[in-house]
This record gives sequence, structure tokens and C-alpha cells, in this order.
Amino acid sequence: MLEVEQLLAGHWSVGGGDRELTVVNPADDAPVTRVVCSAPDDVTAAVRAARAAAPGWAAVSAADRAAALQAAAATVEASAATLAETMAAEMGKPVGEARDTIAAGTATLRQYAELGPVHRGRTLAGHLEAIDLMTYEPRGVVAVITPWNDPVAVACGLLGAALVTGNTVVHKPSERTPGTGWHLARLLAPHFPDGVLNLVNGDGPVGAALAAAPVDVVAHVGSTVTGRAIAAACARTGAKALLENGGCDPLIVDAGVDPQWAASQAALGAFANSGQICVSVERIYAHRSVAASFLDALAEEANAWQPRIGPLVDRRLRDTVDEQVQQALKAGASALCGGAAPAGPGAWYPPTVLTDCTDDMAVMREETFGPVAPVAVVSSFDEALSRASDSPYGLAASVLTGSMSHAQRAWRSLPAGTVKINAVFGGAPGGAAHPRRSSGQGFGYGPELLDEMTATKVVHVSAPPTGW
Ligand code: NAD
Repeated sequence: MLEVEQLLAGHWSVGGGDRELTVVNPADDAPVTRVVCSAPDDVTAAVRAARAAAPGWAAVSAADRAAALQAAAATVEASAATLAETMAAEMGKPVGEARDTIAAGTATLRQYAELGPVHRGRTLAGHLEAIDLMTYEPRGVVAVITPWNDPVAVACGLLGAALVTGNTVVHKPSERTPGTGWHLARLLAPHFPDGVLNLVNGDGPVGAALAAAPVDVVAHVGSTVTGRAIAAACARTGAKALLENGGCDPLIVDAGVDPQWAASQAALGAFANSGQICVSVERIYAHRSVAASFLDALAEEANAWQPRIGPLVDRRLRDTVDEQVQQALKAGASALCGGAAPAGPGAWYPPTVLTDCTDDMAVMREETFGPVAPVAVVSSFDEALSRASDSPYGLAASVLTGSMSHAQRAWRSLPAGTVKINAVFGGAPGGAAHPRRSSGQGFGYGPELLDEMTATKVVHVSAPPTGW
């Protein structure tokens, strides 16, 4: 079993907290990782270490910071196989998929290493004898608080952008993937001076202590409930809150689309990573004219996905998913396949297709975060658009349509940060959106994340009076 340590000012140690967590493999309940939580004093020490290291790291040239990040990316890449095994054992992702997400993480580190040195300010048109400019400065200490569902790629984005812009970091990985976070920190940290990258371990209370600490930015990727608590903590301390939170993404299946193709897209969106993706398809509005053949095809797809998907991260999440499904069934939905947790070890849940769903069901209104495709039949594209828009979340939305005018109306009107037409995943590199409503705030990705991690300073330099 992995024994996970914290990293404070360049020294690895066992956490000083009085709570200990054990992560079990969600495939078979075998223990994988043991971690003693960091104590409040450890969090304070990590923030102090990051604060002490901040001026030195900010004074390193952008090119040298980028070189450190490039070297760190190469080290992560070289250890991708063992890192993927840890990730797979902790959160159930098949090892091959875990390797793909680690490759995405190293690509992101390299992308920020390239973008960091060219993140430049501008000169302004002032008096001819003066110099006027806008320049970017590191914000200082960034608390990076990350989830378990894509633990390496998400962490690499925030860590890469924070470090290359000259900030120092205290990272707290998810309590569901502490071994993955610890392994990643062991690979990254040797490339940076002591105190530049610190690691604390534990669950919500440790995250809350970090969010309440005197840091300059709290960058959180995780659930909306946590994001709200972090925003409140930041309001008290004055730190900037950068939040990438949950979603309940709709998929609209328009009249006239090929039902087989639509079903394969819906299944990919709802079942990939066992439904544990922030931009998973969470609810489907299918036009009445294609609904029957779409549902038949979706049930077939679900059966084909069954042997390919991993378990959910743990039984806690499985209970939530199953509770939402059972509530929907009680309220009048029907399961075309799946719909119940199997007996036996692990946190397995089958791909599930529900019909006759209504918008007041939790499975349509809340983020389910499991392999569940709830479907409601609609009579018009207008009805689909209006029901898709009526949500407390605004992360992403997808539309399958052959109509250019429907596509145009959809991307203009849907209140979501990302709109995808005729594909549930994908998009050009570098795309970054503002999540809407309860889905967060700020740019969590792309080149714009460098703006979030820096503060702009306006400088006016006048010439001294002549004759001095
Ligand atoms: P979570 O918010 O429960 O946990 C994320 C991190 O926050 C963990 O490290 C956790 O320990 C910490 N935390 C928990 N309570 C805290 C508190 N009160 N104060 C400070 N930190 C606290 O989320 P999760 O279950 O790990 O992740 C799944 C969620 O993440 C889903 O809602 C998913 O949609 C979202 N997510 C969003 C994106 C995105 O880009 N929008 C990407 C991945 C995941």
C-alpha cells in the first residue's frame, strides 16, 4: 500500500493531523493508499514556505521558469506508466485511459512552458518623453485544490500556469486520489527551488483550511458546493477565487438526425470515464420524430459500453448516482437498461438509459456524475432549447442537428461556457470559456489562464526635470 507524505519547504514528512484516510480500489475494494491528513499547522507552514519562496521564484527569468517546466514534463512522461497504475488503482479508470490523460497533462505542462515566456504586456501611447506600459506580475501564492476525476491533467494545467508565471504553489489533491497527487508532486518538485511547490494532503477540512489561509489566489476545480464555500472564504481574505465547478450539460437531438449516430454520440458523452467528466452529457432532449429509434439505438450502445467502462470512484458516489436513478424510476421514468447497482465488491454501476424523464427529477436537474443517460422527449426544437437553458448550471451543452439555422440559434442562445454542435467532445486547442451560473468563474484553461494567474500593473515613467 502506498504511504503518502506532504511536502513543506522542500521536505517530505508524514502529515501531522489526527485523521488518517485509506483509499480502496473501486474495482475490488483492495486498499491502495494510506494518508495521514495535514494538520492546520502544516497548512500554515506550507503557505509560509510558498510565501518565503515567492520573491526568489518571481525573480527567475520567464525562460528559466519555462525550462524547469519542460524538464518537469519530461520527468512526468518518463514515469507515466507507474503514475497511470496509481491513478487506475485509486479511481478506477482503465490504465490505458489513465495514460492518455497523463499524456494530456504533460502536453499542458509543455504548452504553458511555451506560452509563459511570450505572455507579454504592452506599451502605451503617452507623452513622447515618458514611458507608459502595462506589465504582468505573478500574484504571489496560489492554492491549487483539485478533484479526482482527471487528477493529473487538471493539476498539470493549474500548476503549470501558476508556476511558469512566477507564482509559488500549495497543492492539495483530492482525498480520493492522494497517491496520484503525491506521485505527481514527487516528479515535479525536484525541478523547482524548495518552497516553490508544496503539497498538503487530506479532505474537505484541509482544503477549507488552505482556502482560508493568507494566499493570493485559490484555484479550485471541483464541485459547485465546494466552489461556493471557497468563494465565501476568499471574500473574507481578499484572495482571488478561480472556480471550475460542476455542470448538468444538456444534449439536444434534433429532428432529422441519424438516430444511430446520435445514439453513439449520446453514449460517448454519458458513459465515457463512467460519466465522471465535468462536461459529460447529463440530460438528453430528443425530438419526438426520432425519439423511438434513438432510444432503441441508445440502449444497444449502452449494452456495448457495459464491458468497457470502469467502476465509479467509490461507493459514496455510487450511492448518490443510484439514489438519483431510483428517485427518477419512482417518479415515472423507465430504465431501458441498467438502473441498479450490482451486488459484489467494488463501486460498479452499469450504463443506464432512462426514458420519460421530467425536468424536476434530480437526474435531470443535478449533476449525476455517473454512467446515466436520462432522456426526455420534446415536440419542437424551441422546446428543447428552452428546457436545455433552464438549469442552475452553465458549463457546456451539445446539439446534434442538420439544420444550420438551428445550430446558429443554439450556440447564440444556450447559457453555457462551451457549446458543441454535432460532437459531444472535442474542440480546437487553446479554447477557454467562462463557465456560467453555478459552474464557476474565470478562465481555468487555455492561454487566458496565464492572465488569471498574473496581476496587471500600469507603469508611467516620466523623465526627470532637466537641469538636475
Ligand atoms: P470536490 O469539490 O468535492 O473536491 C475537489 C477538491 O476540493 C478536493 O481536493 C477536496 O478535498 C476539496 N474540498 C472539499 N471541500 C472543500 C472545502 N470546503 N474547502 C476547500 N476545499 C475543499 O469535487 P470532486 O468530487 O473531487 O470532483 C468532482 C467535481 O468536479 C464535479 O462536480 C465535476 O463536475 C467537477 N469538475 C469540474 C471541472 C471543470 O473544469 N469545470 C473539471 C473536473 C471536475
